[in-house]
Amino acid sequence: MQDDLVNVKSGIRFECQASGKCCVSRNSYGFVYLSNIDLKRFSKYFKLSLKAFKKKYCQITDGFIHLAEREELKGNCIFLKDKMCTVYKNRPSQCRTWPFWNDNMNTKVWNKDISVNCPGIGKGKLISQKKINKLLKEDLDNEKSILKNRITPLK
Ligand code: SF4
Repeated sequence: MQDDLVNVKSGIRFECQASGKCCVSRNSYGFVYLSNIDLKRFSKYFKLSLKAFKKKYCQITDGFIHLAEREELKGNCIFLKDKMCTVYKNRPSQCRTWPFWNDNMNTKVWNKDISVNCPGIGKGKLISQKKINKLLKEDLDNEKSILKNRITPLK
């Protein structure tokens, strides 16, 4: 229902506070899933072939490719160092669009989970409705692309 959606007409303040909280995985809930665009961007950045990048930094769960989880990092993203993203300019779409994911824009989810756990919400610059809608569209396209490219074997 429309009433359940977060009202973004006046924009929402958001600025990353480098808490690192959104860069910690809670198993499949927190995986950083990768689209083909993300994979290509990373392979170029690391100067690795796609195959080598996948082998070194990725895992597959239920056919979906995501950044690898390392037990010793206790859920922290492999690219998180001192609560900062070490690949920030090349981070995946899933990270770029946070916290404006379509799944987050339900008022209950936003008020009880997202805005409570993300200290960047309500701080910093005002993100306009236009920009939020652009991020929501990017999130939707990213999700579609990931679903379309579901794979099984690690190539
Ligand atoms: S890639 Fe960067 S922004 Fe994304 S989860 Fe990892 S550390 Fe966080």
